[in-house]
Amino acid sequence: MLDIENIRKDFPILSHRVYDKPLVYFDNGATTQKPRCVVEKIAYEYYNVNANIHRGVHFLSQEATEAHEEARKTVQRFIHARSSNEIVFTRGTTESINLVASSFTDACMAEGDEVIVSVMEHHSNIVPWQIQAAKKGIALRVIPMNEKGELLLDEYEKLFSEKTRLVSVTYVSNVLGTINPVKEMIRMAHEHGVPVLVDGAQSTPHMKVDVQDLDAEFYVFSGHKVYGPTGIGVLYGKEEWLDRLPPYQGGGEMIATVSFEKTVFNELPFKFEAGTPDYVGSTALAEALRYVERIGLDNIADYEQGLLSYATRKLQAIEGMRIFGNAAEKGAVISFLVGNIHHYDMGMLLDRLGIAVRTGHHCAQPLMHALGIEGTVRASFSFYNTEEEIDILVAGIERVRKMF
Ligand code: PMP
Repeated sequence: MLDIENIRKDFPILSHRVYDKPLVYFDNGATTQKPRCVVEKIAYEYYNVNANIHRGVHFLSQEATEAHEEARKTVQRFIHARSSNEIVFTRGTTESINLVASSFTDACMAEGDEVIVSVMEHHSNIVPWQIQAAKKGIALRVIPMNEKGELLLDEYEKLFSEKTRLVSVTYVSNVLGTINPVKEMIRMAHEHGVPVLVDGAQSTPHMKVDVQDLDAEFYVFSGHKVYGPTGIGVLYGKEEWLDRLPPYQGGGEMIATVSFEKTVFNELPFKFEAGTPDYVGSTALAEALRYVERIGLDNIADYEQGLLSYATRKLQAIEGMRIFGNAAEKGAVISFLVGNIHHYDMGMLLDRLGIAVRTGHHCAQPLMHALGIEGTVRASFSFYNTEEEIDILVAGIERVRKMF
């Protein structure tokens, strides 16, 4: 059982008022709020430990390097990677996918080769592949879904061919909430000898993830969605795969030796961390992960599932309510439309009541196209949300509905 009242005290922003109403923050899919310990860690690092890391002989540089490398180990433990060499710090999910798309295409793809993605991908798992496709003549194949928002595994199986080089799929849909059976999908891909990238942007904050158990070749996530700071994220890659891939960017840190004739790249994971890394961000991300571990991912998943069923029940009772995404396995995200009310109108009016929801296509326009809509209103929950807040949302929607 989670002590939500006390947990909420860790997040000062949650007690703010907007338009003189208590803030109800249901935009956790976009970014989560930060607990005090994370914000204090950032201040502590800048006040006490700041120095550029690696190669520094002086005290502060060594201390900062140690903190950055300790953070890498915390991430390794958090997702249960075999080695901290498999953890690359990036700016976030988007940069991690761009890195793999660029380096994997350079090393492993030729004209006519194919990447399998799903219909429910975020733009950040579509566009990087299209950029590579335009350069190298590779193609995307798309896994379709049923009306509940579940991927069709039979159709997925049919997409594999001699040309398939990679599967790149999201674990949890940021729109529908669907928790895809990625472990099974990875097993199927491996039967065809195909590696898999899992977009963990929406899974990492809500459920226990074990990359060895999943057996994913690549797993990516963003710090800011898992209670950490903005501007830091992670690329996990199996060591043998990261070894095979060429660097994404060149510069300091990522080299062993440089001359005008020849440069030798650094070993993992530094080969992929060109330039001064966000060593304060990494340390604060590790603090966030420890915070989440203290609450417990199983407790978080249980509690959020409770919020999801409560909210689903209450929202379904509203006249004209259409919920998009009713998968059997679903995370705490509800996308909806009410009658003919435009999602922007709903979002703007809810905002005036102090309720933060997201509206629009949620960076998933191909999914919107498949659903035959332009956008939705999305409420996405965190362990710091409460049933009382859901009641406020329901009353808000009723109020908007009556205005139209
Ligand atoms: N993938 C999914 C499923 C997401 O929800 C998001 C963020 N909305 C991203 C990728 C991109 O994450 P970021 O903007 O932090 O790079």
